Amino acid sequence: MRQKLVKNIFTFSKIALLSSIALGGVFYISHQSVAMASTQNIANKDVQIPLSMKGNFMQSGVIVGKTAPFANISFGEPGKEPVVFNADRDGNFVLGLDRDAATTAELKITVQGKTLSKTLNIWARTYKVTEVNGLPPAKVNPPDSAMAKIAADKEIKTRAWTSLDPYERGFLETFRWPIDKIRITSPWGAVRKLNGTLQTPHYGVDVGAPTGTPIYAPASGIVVIAEPDLFYEGGLVGIDHGQGLISYSMHMSKVDVTAGQRLKQGDKVGEVGSTGRSNGPHLHWSLKWHGRQLDPSLMVHPLQEYQGK
Ligand SMILES: [Zn+2]
Repeated sequence: MRQKLVKNIFTFSKIALLSSIALGGVFYISHQSVAMASTQNIANKDVQIPLSMKGNFMQSGVIVGKTAPFANISFGEPGKEPVVFNADRDGNFVLGLDRDAATTAELKITVQGKTLSKTLNIWARTYKVTEVNGLPPAKVNPPDSAMAKIAADKEIKTRAWTSLDPYERGFLETFRWPIDKIRITSPWGAVRKLNGTLQTPHYGVDVGAPTGTPIYAPASGIVVIAEPDLFYEGGLVGIDHGQGLISYSMHMSKVDVTAGQRLKQGDKVGEVGSTGRSNGPHLHWSLKWHGRQLDPSLMVHPLQEYQGK
């Protein structure tokens, strides 16, 4: 099937790509023409670079693909510095899209000096404006006395964010919600006014739940950070699902895991709370990939096959 797919790329000068994304009951379809550039970038026709992908081809979405083992991959917006990394030993890779990513993204896969290039169409999303009031003023505009704690927290978090576990394959799983009963109190990506002041976008999904509600690993992975009480995040657990895809649970009242621990999907990691910058018990669930903020709630549905030929 993949061989046929690659052969077709050589055969046709112009290919219509169909990418479809089912999300929240809305079905998007886009047709995209891929010019001959795709084939011209392959200098040696004897080298066939396999490629299959599935995912959410939209802002803040995740794409999971398969190509040659250890292939060099470059992914970014036109005119911007790409993220460069390698597929794993089975050829699996992950791509992540920014909250405000451009409507096209450039994917380059290089194997033995030969490069396959693709331009992916990316759907734009609209984000809500939400107001959060009643936060402790010191958590919105931290006093000088908190600066040392915030700086120390940042160092711990930065180490975790750069985790690149070569063995985890959690990204191949369809994620589960980290808690059983889902009541979204603030959606991902919302522009936020905290106590009346405009802040950075909300890079998480807030799920309201009583203190003590169990929180589970959304997919398999290795714990890269497990902290009981950071200034902003409160109780924080981060799980590396492989290929740089790391999910976080925040504001936890109880942390049951430790850094370095390997988890299976559904293992309990702790309990809901209201620690850190929070105005009531809830789970703040977020997802990162190579420094980009992604929407974890897109991962709880099976990813859509990329229909390109
Ligand atoms: Zn939140």
